[in-house]
Amino acid sequence: GPTVGVLALQGDVAEHRRILESLGARTIAVRTEEQLDAVDGLVIPGGESTTMWRLARSFGLLEPLRKRVHTGLPTFGSCAGMIMLADRVEDGVAGQETIGGLDITVRRNAFGRQVDSFEAELDFPAVGEPPLTAVFIRAPWVEQIGASVEVLARVKSGDDGSAGTIVAVRAGGLLATSFHPELTADARIHALFLNIIKEA
Ligand code: GLN
Repeated sequence: GPTVGVLALQGDVAEHRRILESLGARTIAVRTEEQLDAVDGLVIPGGESTTMWRLARSFGLLEPLRKRVHTGLPTFGSCAGMIMLADRVEDGVAGQETIGGLDITVRRNAFGRQVDSFEAELDFPAVGEPPLTAVFIRAPWVEQIGASVEVLARVKSGDDGSAGTIVAVRAGGLLATSFHPELTADARIHALFLNIIKEA
């Protein structure tokens, strides 16, 4: 099976590793360029994108991450990890940088004004039935997507008749969710990511 790296600068690294290993993948914690070079796919966990960015910089990992992610390394980002994969961030801190690669604009802490944390049942056709229980914690949402980006799921707020806010996207080997599949027992998003690695 594939070796999947989990970026281990900050955030919920152990939770991602446990689910991936339960699906038969080998995982390693990635803190160095050598470790990054050894992986077939990468997970960027939930946590705090500003901290992750600063640590990536001081570990000398930001440019190596950009290089690998921009040249086709399958990568899955959850929550803060989605922010790290986004080409554009609204409501970031001054000077906040990302790895980028996903042609999306995310709004940081977007749900925070209404509600800090919540769960929602999401239709997620790419993983089939039943709906996915999604855990949102000071989550970003996707404000804008480029033509290459496929919307995988939206969350609706009430019955306002709108299509809902985009909370999961894919473009080629890059997958991102506003929520934290690593915090539930449902392994379908990680299984989807392992298939994306296999296709690559
Ligand atoms: N609000 C966090 C950030 O800006 C993300 C929160 C999370 O990953 N649960 O990075």
